Amino acid sequence: MSKKILIINTGGTLSSVMKESGLKPGLSINDMQKELRIVSGDIDIEIEDFCSLDSANIFPEDWSALAKRISDVRNGYDGIVVIHGTDTLAYTSSMLSFMLRNINIPVVITGSQLSITNPVADAMENCRCAIHMAASKIPGVFVAFNRKVMLGCRVSKVRSLSFDAFDSINYPNIAEISSLGMRIDKEAVPERSGIFKPAIAYSDKVCMIKMFPGIHRDVLEFLAERGYKGLYIEAYGIGGMPFLKHDFIGTLETLIKGGMTVAVGTQCIYEGSKMDVYETGKRALEIGVLEAHDMTCEAALTKLMWILGMTSDSSEIRDYYAMNVAGEVRSNL
Ligand code: ASP
Repeated sequence: MSKKILIINTGGTLSSVMKESGLKPGLSINDMQKELRIVSGDIDIEIEDFCSLDSANIFPEDWSALAKRISDVRNGYDGIVVIHGTDTLAYTSSMLSFMLRNINIPVVITGSQLSITNPVADAMENCRCAIHMAASKIPGVFVAFNRKVMLGCRVSKVRSLSFDAFDSINYPNIAEISSLGMRIDKEAVPERSGIFKPAIAYSDKVCMIKMFPGIHRDVLEFLAERGYKGLYIEAYGIGGMPFLKHDFIGTLETLIKGGMTVAVGTQCIYEGSKMDVYETGKRALEIGVLEAHDMTCEAALTKLMWILGMTSDSSEIRDYYAMNVAGEVRSNL
């Protein structure tokens, strides 16, 4: 019996058309039917429009609604493909990895750098890869792009123009397509750790800041005044922050004592943090920040939003943040 895949369109360049106001999503799933049927081969596809947005206009409520839709329909399909703009795709794929933790089918997110209407686009190739991964029976949330399949909570957009826009960060690719066909590295697929129970709540009172020389601690005070519950900081190198001039770490301590959760990782793309080495990291650990280790910034941020949507108990928050939920972290490096 042929496999049945649902393709959900959210917009992005793949479905874009040129308008006077600039390139914007405009094709509905019906306009893309012909191309999608060519690449799906003998896999049976159903298609639906969820929204038609440049992914710069995707918000956390869209993640939640998308996760709910996927969770509601999952039993009717062997797999689900989501078409998404590339700009915030890694945030969506990270959050879906948490909200849909332990899902029993493949959910594969894809997009492209050129519209599917462009004869030299990467769009059909990416959809082909996504549809065939969605038919693989391998459960989890993945991203398919440029003949690679990556774990959804491990991708970052690292190139703005090239077809090879995404890398799997600190984690092997799940699959690659070459002259040998699609080779799936089953060892790299995280095991399901329990039954599927969608968890689509989140907190939007979370902020992310990138450390730079001269950053003033009053930005932290502002966040506390405005009732922010969580903060993710991209610190220097293996996780350093200042404590001399402008005692950033001292102000963070006040925030943490006031109930804010602060997580810290690195602004380097590869290899992660190791905050117990330098004084500039150790001091931060001592005042109670959580460490992101080798998570991408997209996973580190969305994980915090997801956890703070579930609980406000500080020890639960700490345990969840340290836990490997969907393959996003190896904390024992
Ligand atoms: N601006 C587009 C988006 O993220 C870029 C793309 O899809 O490649 O929706």
